[in-house]
Amino acid sequence: MNNATTYQNLDLLPIAGQWRKGRSGRKLDVVDPYSGDTLLSLPMASHADLDEAYQAARDIQPEWAAMGPTARGDIMRRVVALFDARKEEIIDWLIRESGSTRVKAEIEWGSARGITQEAASLPGRMHGRILPSDIPGKESRVYRKPLGVIGVISPWNFPLHLSARSVAPALALGNTVVVKPASDTPVTGGLLLARLFEEAGLPAGALSVVVGAGSEIGDAFVEHPVPSFISFTGSTEVGRNIGRIANAGKHLKHVALELGGNSPFVVLADADVQTAVSAAVTGKFLHQGQICMAINRIIVEAPLVNEFTQRFVERVKTLACGDPSKPETVVGPVINQRQLEGLKAKIGKAKAEGATLLLGGEPQGNVMPPHVFGDVTADMEIAREEIFGPLVGIQSARDAEHALELANGSDYGLSSAVFTGDLARGVQFAQRLHAGMTHVNDMPVNDEANAPFGGEKNSGVGRFNGDWVIDEFTTDHWITVQTAPRGYPF
Ligand code: NAP
Repeated sequence: MNNATTYQNLDLLPIAGQWRKGRSGRKLDVVDPYSGDTLLSLPMASHADLDEAYQAARDIQPEWAAMGPTARGDIMRRVVALFDARKEEIIDWLIRESGSTRVKAEIEWGSARGITQEAASLPGRMHGRILPSDIPGKESRVYRKPLGVIGVISPWNFPLHLSARSVAPALALGNTVVVKPASDTPVTGGLLLARLFEEAGLPAGALSVVVGAGSEIGDAFVEHPVPSFISFTGSTEVGRNIGRIANAGKHLKHVALELGGNSPFVVLADADVQTAVSAAVTGKFLHQGQICMAINRIIVEAPLVNEFTQRFVERVKTLACGDPSKPETVVGPVINQRQLEGLKAKIGKAKAEGATLLLGGEPQGNVMPPHVFGDVTADMEIAREEIFGPLVGIQSARDAEHALELANGSDYGLSSAVFTGDLARGVQFAQRLHAGMTHVNDMPVNDEANAPFGGEKNSGVGRFNGDWVIDEFTTDHWITVQTAPRGYPF
């Protein structure tokens, strides 16, 4: 990579149209989770910075929305071209800042690019309507317009993708945006996107990034009177609080909550075991299992459970662990020490609750080797709670009905998968699963940029992509025009 052409000064924040240092007086060290090196020391945003960012976004929004659909689409297309031109730079940051393996970084780069490409089509798909009217001479029109200012809060696991999936469509549809990226990933979760959009010609102030701890500026970010919409992706615990406080302030606002998961991966007795094992390995260990849709529970019908378990463990043993920048690495570091300690506690709890450890090992730095448990039951913590790491438990189901009961026995409902040799049976099973997304004979982790996305139960409310995103980030305004004199009742 040529340093002269890579983005510089990433310790500055784009706030209200200017790149400058955050004014909180506190610094955030951005640390490579594999090497432990400090990549950046970043002055964090203050409450006043947040307020300025929101005010500027509100002031510039009408001007941005007034730029026609072609102009807004053109900026999205230029960002796509920059994704291509800066591919290596973006992938390098994903590897160093979030501990992404190269495979994961490539997938994430591709999905953020794809989302932006799809966003380029959105300005032209924002249609109004003329409704029939019972009153002679009345024209009843529905105008579709942007919501205004959108606040985006994103997590550290797929930071570029999960910020881009709100930022790109929200901007394309004529809104302006303020992003609060996760404190582990301010560069890939916000600052790189801001640089790309600026280079593509987005007007100054239309996209601000406030870097600050959720515990310090989170409430103010959500309660602020300017944003009409808070798009949150993260844990169920934080999301619940955001849902509670978002509408406690002066102005009511829309909220989308994309939260945690506990994806079941069901293997029915007529499934092809080898195919199911391959899907399970990727669906569990991509990005060290730190994906909301990652397999959290493997549920196998009794006749296949021994064969599946043996083949799965054999495959998992072969996965290369360690330096995420090496192309062959499958399991890189988890994001930080706190996450690692949480995983160690989950392993201890699984053992204490009677699960059988079939594969394990000691962590090296933040790299936790894959752990597989057998004899897992539905009441164990490893089955009930989101794991978010390279651990998994295998449960045996008496029959297909029992597998369905186990799969649905969760407070979450994000993604899911079922493997069977009979596709019609698979679809019938899928229809009875409680989830926003189900894949028949594939892993529960979507790797398509434009897939519809969203869950139910504690996995959240809101849908992304396709036409849903137009509904989310725009609103209808009903305007009638009386074109001829009409009679009134009094
Ligand atoms: P998290 O702790 O909830 O953090 C997510 C974001 O919320 C971060 O930017 C965080 O900022 C911020 N935040 C923390 N406390 C806040 C508060 N009081 N007010 C406002 N914002 C606050 O989640 P995470 O650990 O980063 O991400 C992992 C979780 O996200 C998992 O549960 C995973 O399943 C879920 N997830 C869901 C989806 C989906 O689409 N459904 C996708 C990916 C991940 P700081 O970093 O500064 O604390």
